[in-house]
Amino acid sequence: MVGAGPSGGELARLLAQAGVDVVLVDRLSDLDHAAFSSAALPLSALDRFGLPEQVVAARWRGWQLVGPGAYGDEEGTQARHWMAAQPLGAVLDFGALRRWLASQAEGWGAAVQLGWRAVQCGSQTSSASPLIGSTMATVLQASGGQQRTITSDWVVDASGESRALLGERASRQDPLVTGVGVEWLLQLPDGQAPKWGDRLSFFLGSSWVQQGYGWIFPMAHNQLKVGVCRVSDPSRSQPPLTAELAKVLKASDLQTAPVLDRHGGRIRSSVRRREPHRKGRLLGLGDVVSTANLLGGEGIRHALTSSRVLAPLLQEALYRPSQADRILEAYPSQLRQALGWRWNLSGRLARRTWLGLADANADQRLERLLNGLQTKRAEDISSLLFDYRFERYGLKALPYLFARSQPRG
Ligand SMILES: Cc1cc2nc3c(=O)[nH]c(=O)nc-3n(C[C@H](O)[C@H](O)[C@H](O)COP(=O)(O)OP(=O)(O)OC[C@H]3O[C@@H](n4cnc5c(N)ncnc54)[C@H](O)[C@@H]3O)c2cc1C
Repeated sequence: MVGAGPSGGELARLLAQAGVDVVLVDRLSDLDHAAFSSAALPLSALDRFGLPEQVVAARWRGWQLVGPGAYGDEEGTQARHWMAAQPLGAVLDFGALRRWLASQAEGWGAAVQLGWRAVQCGSQTSSASPLIGSTMATVLQASGGQQRTITSDWVVDASGESRALLGERASRQDPLVTGVGVEWLLQLPDGQAPKWGDRLSFFLGSSWVQQGYGWIFPMAHNQLKVGVCRVSDPSRSQPPLTAELAKVLKASDLQTAPVLDRHGGRIRSSVRRREPHRKGRLLGLGDVVSTANLLGGEGIRHALTSSRVLAPLLQEALYRPSQADRILEAYPSQLRQALGWRWNLSGRLARRTWLGLADANADQRLERLLNGLQTKRAEDISSLLFDYRFERYGLKALPYLFARSQPRG
């Protein structure tokens, strides 16, 4: 398993639990480092994937959407709030999630090897496994340059958007759409966090972030994650993300808060997800096969879903090697089914929605959409943004309001 993110960690855990001999490898020497993900999830995902309290940094019970215009300015748009009585979701400690999954896998007998980057893998014929015919050799490299090779029946590329082993195979008709984000982890003095503490706050409109959005998410111990991200548009020159982040920090009066960590990353998915999920004995998992959803910049639960789909298939393929091709043929379609048609639709909306949010006209349409949401409950906003239930309002509204002016390119 190459990559100890949510997808690789979860698959390693499931397979090790089933008695499979697993090696989980990550280039990070410490899974707490480079915790790039904001890691907001709906509560249902905690239950569904059995995530324990120790990976939860905070719970949220509402939404705060700041529209285009100056925040707090009497002339400008004020934040709109939707609050539920009970928690609706969690913000995870992404490092803790990765550590927990790896330790679970290890507890079930997997070998966890950190600080090793997989640089290549390929098949080799094996006289020891005549039934199988060939095995895989994966070359790992440590930061000091030392190399080692691991031989295995299968290799799973769970290396995230970098697609380290399976490579980029999206087609011209279905290219990879790229979202780029930066996020700072801030420490607030006692008593200042409640304003942001129990809700997910978003800054929407081209005056905040062109072709993207900003956010403030709560963490434990009076900490906040403040970030901005946007969809890359090669046809337009986009302002630096750090300048957009500075606007959000200034408007929220957080620009002097001590910064504990600065991180960032990319989300890249094809919209139709038709790229190959397998090349011989190399399988793709999670972001490698475009499970991240660009509409909400969300991929953890979808990455975990891919592991839940692949685990039983790979187990069966291991026990019936002669039928592995037939068994694994079902993987892409089963994964498509598990993600559901709403995932697919939201992926299609994402590109149009964010790329279209680039000028004052789009801001006005966004403003109308936000006004239209004002009568809804916090639960309704969650079902729109996490369950992709657009048909109640958004199926008509989203493409119309956001993306009526077609993005260029
Ligand atoms: C700024 C930002 C904010 C986000 N916010 C959210 C959010 O709020 N909610 C949400 O659900 N999702 C969010 N996401 C998306 C989410 O984090 C990803 O979709 C998810 O982490 C994908 O899981 P994965 O296991 O497929 O890949 P990853 O989490 O990317 O894990 C891949 C692992 O592989 C390792 N690796 C890479 N190459 C190699 C190699 N050659 N050899 C060995 N190891 C390697 C990496 O170190 C990494 O640990 C965000 C993403 C970004 C960039």
